[in-house]
Amino acid sequence: MKNNYITFSKNIFIPVTNICRNGCEYCGFRARSPDDAYLISLKEFLALIKDNGAATEALFTAGEKPELAKLASFFKQKILDYGYSSLIEYTKELCKLAIKHGLLPHCNLGVLNREELKELQELNASMGLMLETVAEVRAHKHSPGKVPVERLKMIAAAGELKIPFTTGLLIGIGEKPVDHLRSLEAIKSLHDKYGHIQEVIIQPFIPKPFTPMWNKRPPSFEELRKVVRAARAILPEEIAIQVPPNLTSPKELIELGASDMGGISEKTPDYINPELPWPREEELRRIVAPYELRERLPIYPRFIKKGWYSKELSMLIEKYADEDGLRLRR
Ligand code: SF4
Repeated sequence: MKNNYITFSKNIFIPVTNICRNGCEYCGFRARSPDDAYLISLKEFLALIKDNGAATEALFTAGEKPELAKLASFFKQKILDYGYSSLIEYTKELCKLAIKHGLLPHCNLGVLNREELKELQELNASMGLMLETVAEVRAHKHSPGKVPVERLKMIAAAGELKIPFTTGLLIGIGEKPVDHLRSLEAIKSLHDKYGHIQEVIIQPFIPKPFTPMWNKRPPSFEELRKVVRAARAILPEEIAIQVPPNLTSPKELIELGASDMGGISEKTPDYINPELPWPREEELRRIVAPYELRERLPIYPRFIKKGWYSKELSMLIEKYADEDGLRLRR
């Protein structure tokens, strides 16, 4: 590991909508019927972001292309009622409000095309899309957005646009060990071309009740160890390997090359894994010791140095970052 510190960020987690066109067999997040579908209202959003404590990041997640989902008519009516015409238009408005409240947006809205990325770019400190795997797995047979080539295309478009980017692998969804290597090689090759990948998340599949994969066993810790070791060997040193501290025990993975714990929130749950709370900052500090825990922004230091951010975000980045590009110590 290059640094003798481990990084994390503080976020407010904003689930914009749980309506999704995909049908991933492991998903416990997407709405199954209009009764459990939602599109966050401005009022709910403002309640989440006001008094955001020490957070610097607004993490926006959403189901993919809700306009094409089975629940599209519910979504379209709702977004019209709110006075907007699309998820992108509405999310842009939420990003602007987040910036006004001192938060740097990071959007992960599923597969987006180049124009959509461009629209969101100036309002986002970084953006993300999990590659998950380059394998075609049964768990994705009802998920047009999980076709690997579509996801790689978006990651490449983000690179062309110079968007600092987060991606990652989802481990244990039916892929083979060789697919981990192929997925990491694919990310490496895009990074070699564009230099835009800031972190790669190694995330274990966690079975969710009432899903077709509820009875499937999650990956063993040994499997995670192997993937983290392979990631550190394959990816350039400048790409951080992130392991979510609420989904695995990070200590041993740090010894194998993981150097980032991702975002934690004191105010909002992990809406994707609500049963697994994030550790609080002090607990995280104990977990990573003897390494020092350092807070970072949603944009990594080297992209701050390169100036890969818009003038809309410059005031906040200059306010929050120290001379190393990490969060100014308070
Ligand atoms: S893309 Fe995400 S939200 Fe949509 S079904 Fe798959 S895991 Fe769920």
